[in-house]
Formats: sequence, structure tokens, C-alpha cells
Amino acid sequence: MTTSVVTGGAGFLGSHLCEYLLEKGHRVICLDNLDTGSLQNIEHLRDEVFEFRNVDCVDNMEVTELVDYVFHLASPASPIDYLRLPLHTLKVGSYGTHNALGLAKFKRSRFLLASTSEVYGDPLVHPQPEGYWGNVNPIGPRGVYDESKRYAEALTMAYHRQQGVDTCIARIFNTYGPRMRPNDGRAVPTFVRQALADQPLTVFGDGSQTRSFCYVDDLIEGLFRLACSGVHEPVNIGSPAEMTLTELAETVIAVTGGDSKIVFSSLPIDDPKVRQPDIARATELLGWEPTVALAEGLRRVVEFERSNRSHSLTALA
Ligand code: NAD
Repeated sequence: MTTSVVTGGAGFLGSHLCEYLLEKGHRVICLDNLDTGSLQNIEHLRDEVFEFRNVDCVDNMEVTELVDYVFHLASPASPIDYLRLPLHTLKVGSYGTHNALGLAKFKRSRFLLASTSEVYGDPLVHPQPEGYWGNVNPIGPRGVYDESKRYAEALTMAYHRQQGVDTCIARIFNTYGPRMRPNDGRAVPTFVRQALADQPLTVFGDGSQTRSFCYVDDLIEGLFRLACSGVHEPVNIGSPAEMTLTELAETVIAVTGGDSKIVFSSLPIDDPKVRQPDIARATELLGWEPTVALAEGLRRVVEFERSNRSHSLTALA
């Protein structure tokens, strides 16, 4: 049986990846210290071939079993989290990635690094192809995340070139879906929470900054295809359907059927003005492109949030 280790497996993306790998017939070992993840995200995975281990990958990552794949997702990911945990974020990108690569080297596993579009910083090239080296402010507050991921990429390539580890790097662009924490500060869960509570939707800046949002199922399919390929260079995985933050807020209001207003608040420091992946490499090498339209993906998130909310109200009653 194929065995996969997923670091950060109790988080948003990690829990969907664990679920997907179990469906593919893998045995899954989920390593997570529950910093920003939760057992609730994986409580439905009560499978005899699924195991959760409470492990901080900065400290150690001992695994006695044979391992075919190491998916390294552990890291704070939302600005609220990495601004709250700046040193931990740098440590998880450095020591944590060393430990995960060391495990892959020792076990002769295929290694996937969950990197990010943030390695492009506030991009001067648009859309962003993998060959673009980025425009990151290393000493700004977001530098702890951006540089931690850039270091993790450099480390991954060094393990590949010098140590012969079979590695790949996914540059993940904004992804959304069920199980994002309503208060994690990212745009989709924030707008959905506000719209469902009939509150105004808070858009940073003047709302003209752009992002492109990929539904989680598409993203996980892309990660899996990359892990199964022989590709070593970084690959953008994300939706090329670019929109402004105001357009996103309007779409969320339309999907929830509410009539919330949109209000504007100050733009965070170094917030990128544009963000859109060039996915030609993913399409050519992996035959991958997103399939779930934004309105449909948002409808699934809203449905999930509504049913979660009705469950918690039942629990309180
Ligand atoms: P998340 O916060 O939901 O998940 C991260 C998980 O890592 C959590 O379960 C957390 O407890 C765990 N973790 C953190 N530090 C750890 C440590 N030292 N040891 C063990 N576990 C640790 O975030 P997410 O959105 O699921 O992101 C997952 C990965 O994907 C991250 O590496 C992130 O940088 C990357 N990514 C995500 C997005 C996105 O839009 N969701 C975009 C770009 C990159």
C-alpha cells in the first residue's frame, strides 16, 4: 500500500489532501501540531489507514514506516496567523522544511513543498509565470512568510540537486473552500461570515486590487498530479480567473442572497496590488486546469457554513 505523510494535515488544505489520498487508496500519516489546524477538520477520517500524530515538524519528524510521498504543507498561511507567529513561521519554513526533506531523503520518498504565490511579492510581471523571480520586501511584516517560503524553495532545490531527493514545488495561489476558519482573516471566509450575519463586508483599500480564487478540490487535484509527475521545477497551481476584491465581495453577497453593504478599510502593508497565475506550465506538464467556477465554489462554502452553523445551534439547544 502506498504511504503518504502529510505535514499540516489537520489544516484547511491538508485535511482535504488527506481525504483525497485516502480515496486514492493511500495509507495517510498526518503530522500536525494544531497551531492553526484542528482535529475537527479530520474527525470524519476515521479510517484504519489514517493516523493523526501531534508533531511539531520544527522539532522532529521521526516516522518508522516506509514512506512513498511526503507532502509538506505545515506552515501558518493566513496573514493573521503569520503576523501573530512571525518567528514560528520562519522556523517552520527553515527547520521544519529541513526535517521534512530529511525524512524524504532517508525514506527515498517523493517530496512536495507547498509553496505560495507570495514568493512573487508585489509582482511587476503580470500574470506571474514561474520564471519570474518576484518583488518581495524582506523586512516588511509579510517578509516572515514570503522569505520563509523562498528559503524553503531554495532548500528543496538544494536537497534535489546535491542530495538527489526527488522533489517538487507547488506555488499555490489563493485557494478557498469548506473548512477555512471564519476568522482567519482571508477574504473568502471573512466575506462569507459577514454576508451570512447580514453585516457589511470589509474590503481592504479601495477594492481594486486583484486576486484569483481556486476551489480547493481543483487545487488538491493539481497537487496530486504534480506529486505523481517527474517534474522538479516549481509549478503554479491556481485559478487564472482574476477579479477585484470588490467583485469578489459582490459575488459573495449574490451567492448568499443577502443585501449586505460593502465598506472599505485601510490596506495592509505590502499587500500585493495584483495576483494572477500563468498556468501554462501546469497545463502542459500536468494536463491540469481548474474546473469549478467561482459562483459554484462559493455556493458549496456557503452551504457548508450554513450546515455547520445549524449544527452548532442544535448543540447549544
Ligand atoms: P492552515 O493554517 O489551515 O494549515 C496549516 C497547517 O499546518 C495547520 O494545521 C497547522 O496546525 C499546521 N502547522 C503549522 N505549523 C506547524 C508545525 N510546526 N508542525 C506541524 N504542523 C504545523 O493553512 P492552509 O491554507 O491549509 O495552508 C496549507 C499550506 O499551503 C501552507 O504551507 C500554506 O503556506 C500553503 N498555501 C496555502 C494557500 C491557500 O490559499 N490556502 C495559498 C498559498 C500557499
